[in-house]
Amino acid sequence: MLNHSSRLSAHHTASPQLAHEDIRRYSRQLMLDCIDHDGQLNLARSHAVIVGLGGLGSLTARYLAGAGVGNITLIDGDTVDISNLQRQISYNEMHLGELKAKSLYNELRKVNSQLNIKFRSVFADSNNLPTLISSAGCVLDCTDNVTIRKQINLTTFRASIPLFIAAASGLTWQALNLPQNSANCGCYECLVSHVAVREDCVSQGILGPVVGMAACHQATQALLFLAQGFNANIKWGHYVNAHAGLGTLQSFKLPPSSSCEVCQ
Ligand SMILES: [Zn+2]
Repeated sequence: MLNHSSRLSAHHTASPQLAHEDIRRYSRQLMLDCIDHDGQLNLARSHAVIVGLGGLGSLTARYLAGAGVGNITLIDGDTVDISNLQRQISYNEMHLGELKAKSLYNELRKVNSQLNIKFRSVFADSNNLPTLISSAGCVLDCTDNVTIRKQINLTTFRASIPLFIAAASGLTWQALNLPQNSANCGCYECLVSHVAVREDCVSQGILGPVVGMAACHQATQALLFLAQGFNANIKWGHYVNAHAGLGTLQSFKLPPSSSCEVCQ
Protein backbone atom coordinates (compact mmCIF):
# COMPACT_ATOMS: atom_id res chain seq x y z
CA MET A 1 0.00 0.00 0.00
CA LEU A 2 2.68 2.39 -0.94
CA ASN A 3 1.97 3.86 -4.31
CA HIS A 4 0.97 7.31 -3.22
CA SER A 5 3.54 9.76 -2.08
CA SER A 6 1.75 9.95 1.26
CA ARG A 7 2.82 6.36 1.86
CA LEU A 8 6.44 7.20 1.28
CA SER A 9 8.16 8.96 4.11
CA ALA A 10 10.23 10.94 1.65
CA HIS A 11 9.38 14.22 3.27
CA HIS A 12 10.75 13.19 6.62
CA THR A 13 13.77 10.99 5.95
CA ALA A 14 16.70 11.01 3.57
CA SER A 15 15.56 7.83 1.85
CA PRO A 16 11.92 6.72 1.56
CA GLN A 17 10.98 3.46 3.20
CA LEU A 18 8.48 0.75 2.39
CA ALA A 19 5.57 0.41 4.79
CA HIS A 20 5.52 -2.78 6.85
CA GLU A 21 2.45 -3.98 4.99
CA ASP A 22 4.22 -3.48 1.66
CA ILE A 23 7.21 -5.50 2.84
CA ARG A 24 4.82 -8.39 3.52
CA ARG A 25 2.87 -7.99 0.29
CA TYR A 26 5.95 -7.85 -1.93
CA SER A 27 8.23 -10.07 0.16
CA ARG A 28 8.89 -12.65 -2.57
CA GLN A 29 10.07 -10.16 -5.16
CA LEU A 30 11.91 -7.99 -2.62
CA MET A 31 14.32 -10.93 -2.25
CA LEU A 32 15.41 -10.43 -5.84
CA ASP A 33 18.40 -8.23 -6.59
CA CYS A 34 16.59 -6.98 -9.70
CA ILE A 35 13.79 -5.54 -7.55
CA ASP A 36 14.86 -5.06 -3.91
CA HIS A 37 13.79 -2.12 -1.75
CA ASP A 38 14.65 0.69 -4.13
CA GLY A 39 13.18 -1.10 -7.13
CA GLN A 40 9.93 -1.61 -5.25
CA LEU A 41 9.76 2.11 -4.53
CA ASN A 42 10.40 2.75 -8.21
CA LEU A 43 7.54 0.42 -9.14
CA ALA A 44 5.26 2.31 -6.78
CA ARG A 45 6.13 5.63 -8.44
CA SER A 46 5.92 4.32 -11.99
CA HIS A 47 3.14 4.62 -14.56
CA ALA A 48 2.44 1.90 -17.12
CA VAL A 49 -0.07 2.41 -19.92
CA ILE A 50 -1.52 -0.82 -21.29
CA VAL A 51 -3.11 -0.56 -24.72
CA GLY A 52 -5.38 -3.51 -25.53
CA LEU A 53 -6.95 -5.66 -22.80
CA GLY A 54 -7.34 -9.02 -24.52
CA GLY A 55 -5.23 -12.13 -24.04
CA LEU A 56 -2.06 -10.08 -23.57
CA GLY A 57 -3.21 -6.99 -21.74
CA SER A 58 -5.61 -8.63 -19.30
CA LEU A 59 -2.83 -10.87 -17.99
CA THR A 60 0.00 -8.34 -18.19
CA ALA A 61 -2.08 -5.87 -16.20
CA ARG A 62 -2.75 -8.50 -13.54
CA TYR A 63 0.98 -9.06 -13.04
CA LEU A 64 1.78 -5.36 -12.94
CA ALA A 65 -0.95 -4.76 -10.37
CA GLY A 66 0.22 -7.70 -8.28
CA ALA A 67 3.80 -6.43 -8.35
CA GLY A 68 2.83 -2.96 -7.17
CA VAL A 69 3.13 -0.73 -10.23
CA GLY A 70 1.65 2.35 -8.63
CA ASN A 71 -0.09 3.90 -11.60
CA ILE A 72 -1.70 1.81 -14.32
CA THR A 73 -3.85 3.03 -17.19
CA LEU A 74 -6.02 0.44 -18.97
CA ILE A 75 -7.17 1.21 -22.52
CA ASP A 76 -9.63 -0.79 -24.62
CA GLY A 77 -13.01 0.02 -26.13
CA ASP A 78 -14.05 -3.63 -26.53
CA THR A 79 -16.55 -5.69 -24.52
CA VAL A 80 -16.12 -9.19 -23.11
CA ASP A 81 -17.33 -11.91 -25.50
CA ILE A 82 -17.70 -15.59 -24.72
CA SER A 83 -14.98 -16.39 -27.26
CA ASN A 84 -12.54 -14.37 -25.10
CA LEU A 85 -12.78 -16.61 -22.04
CA GLN A 86 -10.59 -19.35 -23.56
CA ARG A 87 -7.51 -17.17 -23.09
CA GLN A 88 -8.35 -13.79 -21.52
CA ILE A 89 -8.08 -15.14 -18.03
CA SER A 90 -8.92 -12.04 -16.03
CA TYR A 91 -12.52 -12.27 -17.30
CA ASN A 92 -15.25 -14.79 -16.56
CA GLU A 93 -18.92 -15.38 -17.42
CA MET A 94 -19.96 -12.63 -15.00
CA HIS A 95 -18.24 -10.10 -17.30
CA LEU A 96 -19.92 -11.08 -20.58
CA GLY A 97 -21.09 -7.97 -22.43
CA GLU A 98 -19.28 -5.59 -20.07
CA LEU A 99 -16.59 -3.18 -21.15
CA LYS A 100 -13.21 -4.88 -20.79
CA ALA A 101 -11.52 -1.79 -19.36
CA LYS A 102 -14.13 -1.42 -16.60
CA SER A 103 -14.24 -5.16 -15.86
CA LEU A 104 -10.47 -5.41 -15.61
CA TYR A 105 -10.30 -2.27 -13.47
CA ASN A 106 -12.74 -3.87 -11.02
CA GLU A 107 -10.78 -7.13 -10.92
CA LEU A 108 -7.44 -5.38 -10.38
CA ARG A 109 -8.89 -3.31 -7.56
CA LYS A 110 -9.63 -6.60 -5.80
CA VAL A 111 -6.00 -7.63 -6.23
CA ASN A 112 -4.41 -4.40 -5.03
CA SER A 113 -6.76 -1.71 -3.78
CA GLN A 114 -3.92 0.71 -3.03
CA LEU A 115 -2.92 1.31 -6.64
CA ASN A 116 -3.92 4.27 -8.75
CA ILE A 117 -5.61 2.46 -11.63
CA LYS A 118 -7.42 4.34 -14.36
CA PHE A 119 -9.34 2.97 -17.30
CA ARG A 120 -10.42 4.42 -20.62
CA SER A 121 -13.06 2.50 -22.56
CA VAL A 122 -11.91 3.74 -25.95
CA PHE A 123 -10.09 2.19 -28.86
CA ALA A 124 -6.67 3.78 -29.18
CA ASP A 125 -6.08 5.61 -32.44
CA SER A 126 -3.72 8.20 -33.88
CA ASN A 127 -5.87 11.02 -32.50
CA ASN A 128 -6.17 9.94 -28.87
CA LEU A 129 -2.85 8.12 -28.39
CA PRO A 130 -0.66 11.19 -27.74
CA THR A 131 -2.90 12.21 -24.83
CA LEU A 132 -3.45 8.67 -23.53
CA ILE A 133 0.27 7.94 -23.21
CA SER A 134 1.57 11.41 -22.38
CA SER A 135 2.45 10.70 -18.73
CA ALA A 136 3.54 7.07 -19.20
CA GLY A 137 6.86 5.74 -17.93
CA CYS A 138 6.40 2.96 -20.43
CA VAL A 139 3.73 1.68 -22.80
CA LEU A 140 2.75 -1.96 -23.25
CA ASP A 141 1.42 -2.74 -26.71
CA CYS A 142 -1.09 -5.55 -26.18
CA THR A 143 -3.10 -4.88 -29.33
CA ASP A 144 -3.80 -7.31 -32.12
CA ASN A 145 -3.34 -5.63 -35.46
CA VAL A 146 -0.50 -4.04 -37.38
CA THR A 147 -2.26 -0.72 -38.04
CA ILE A 148 -2.68 0.26 -34.39
CA ARG A 149 0.73 -1.19 -33.52
CA LYS A 150 2.31 1.17 -36.05
CA GLN A 151 0.47 4.09 -34.50
CA ILE A 152 1.59 3.14 -30.99
CA ASN A 153 5.17 2.81 -32.26
CA LEU A 154 5.04 6.23 -33.91
CA THR A 155 3.48 7.95 -30.90
CA THR A 156 5.87 6.44 -28.34
CA PHE A 157 8.85 7.18 -30.57
CA ARG A 158 7.88 10.84 -30.88
CA ALA A 159 7.42 11.04 -27.11
CA SER A 160 10.60 9.00 -26.32
CA ILE A 161 8.59 6.59 -24.16
CA PRO A 162 9.90 3.00 -23.91
CA LEU A 163 7.60 0.48 -25.59
CA PHE A 164 7.14 -3.20 -24.76
CA ILE A 165 5.51 -5.14 -27.59
CA ALA A 166 4.20 -8.70 -27.45
CA ALA A 167 2.19 -10.80 -29.88
CA ALA A 168 1.02 -14.39 -30.28
CA SER A 169 -0.40 -16.44 -33.11
CA GLY A 170 -0.99 -20.15 -33.48
CA LEU A 171 1.64 -21.81 -31.26
CA THR A 172 4.19 -19.00 -31.57
CA TRP A 173 4.72 -15.80 -29.66
CA GLN A 174 6.88 -12.77 -30.32
CA ALA A 175 8.19 -9.82 -28.33
CA LEU A 176 10.26 -6.68 -28.76
CA ASN A 177 11.46 -4.03 -26.29
CA LEU A 178 12.02 -0.62 -27.84
CA PRO A 179 13.77 2.19 -25.92
CA GLN A 180 12.39 4.69 -28.49
CA ASN A 181 15.29 7.05 -27.87
CA SER A 182 18.24 5.23 -29.43
CA ALA A 183 19.70 5.61 -32.90
CA ASN A 184 21.10 2.06 -32.64
CA CYS A 185 17.73 0.32 -32.42
CA GLY A 186 15.18 -0.30 -35.12
CA CYS A 187 11.52 0.30 -34.33
CA TYR A 188 8.28 -1.58 -35.00
CA GLU A 189 8.02 0.07 -38.41
CA CYS A 190 11.49 -1.29 -39.20
CA LEU A 191 10.41 -4.74 -37.99
CA VAL A 192 7.42 -5.02 -40.30
CA SER A 193 9.66 -4.05 -43.19
CA HIS A 194 12.04 -6.94 -42.26
CA VAL A 195 9.62 -9.65 -41.12
CA ALA A 196 6.25 -10.81 -42.41
CA VAL A 197 4.29 -10.27 -39.18
CA ARG A 198 1.34 -12.61 -38.58
CA GLU A 199 -0.58 -11.85 -35.46
CA ASP A 200 -4.28 -11.92 -36.13
CA CYS A 201 -5.69 -14.61 -33.83
CA VAL A 202 -9.09 -14.43 -35.52
CA SER A 203 -7.69 -15.78 -38.76
CA GLN A 204 -4.69 -17.72 -37.35
CA GLY A 205 -6.15 -19.20 -34.19
CA ILE A 206 -4.42 -19.19 -30.80
CA LEU A 207 -4.02 -21.54 -27.87
CA GLY A 208 -4.76 -19.80 -24.56
CA PRO A 209 -1.48 -20.46 -22.72
CA VAL A 210 0.58 -19.40 -25.74
CA VAL A 211 -0.66 -15.83 -25.55
CA GLY A 212 -0.17 -16.16 -21.80
CA MET A 213 3.52 -16.91 -22.36
CA ALA A 214 3.84 -13.76 -24.44
CA ALA A 215 2.09 -11.74 -21.74
CA CYS A 216 4.30 -13.18 -19.00
CA HIS A 217 7.42 -12.27 -20.97
CA GLN A 218 6.13 -8.77 -21.61
CA ALA A 219 5.17 -8.23 -17.96
CA THR A 220 8.60 -9.46 -16.83
CA GLN A 221 10.43 -7.08 -19.15
CA ALA A 222 8.28 -4.12 -18.12
CA LEU A 223 8.63 -4.83 -14.39
CA LEU A 224 12.42 -5.09 -14.60
CA PHE A 225 12.53 -1.80 -16.48
CA LEU A 226 10.15 -0.02 -14.12
CA ALA A 227 12.18 -1.22 -11.14
CA GLN A 228 15.64 -0.39 -12.48
CA GLY A 229 15.18 1.85 -15.48
CA PHE A 230 17.77 1.50 -18.22
CA ASN A 231 20.08 -0.25 -15.73
CA ALA A 232 17.79 -3.28 -15.88
CA ASN A 233 19.37 -6.42 -17.32
CA ILE A 234 17.03 -6.75 -20.30
CA LYS A 235 17.66 -6.60 -24.04
CA TRP A 236 16.49 -3.67 -26.08
CA GLY A 237 15.84 -3.86 -29.79
CA HIS A 238 15.98 -7.68 -29.95
CA TYR A 239 13.09 -9.40 -31.70
CA VAL A 240 12.13 -12.58 -29.83
CA ASN A 241 10.33 -15.39 -31.65
CA ALA A 242 9.32 -18.47 -29.63
CA HIS A 243 7.53 -21.70 -30.49
CA ALA A 244 5.47 -22.87 -27.53
CA GLY A 245 5.02 -26.40 -28.86
CA LEU A 246 8.71 -27.06 -29.44
CA GLY A 247 9.88 -24.98 -26.51
CA THR A 248 12.32 -23.06 -28.68
CA LEU A 249 13.17 -19.38 -28.61
CA GLN A 250 15.26 -17.32 -30.99
CA SER A 251 16.11 -13.66 -30.94
CA PHE A 252 17.95 -11.32 -33.24
CA LYS A 253 18.95 -7.70 -33.05
CA LEU A 254 16.59 -5.58 -35.06
CA PRO A 255 18.64 -3.15 -37.16
CA PRO A 256 17.21 0.25 -38.05
CA SER A 257 15.85 0.32 -41.57
CA SER A 258 17.49 3.18 -43.47
CA SER A 259 14.19 3.93 -45.17
CA CYS A 260 12.13 3.94 -41.96
CA GLU A 261 9.84 6.96 -41.83
CA VAL A 262 9.54 6.77 -38.04
CA CYS A 263 13.01 6.34 -36.57
CA GLN A 264 15.34 7.53 -39.35
ZN1 LIG B 1 12.15 2.40 -37.59
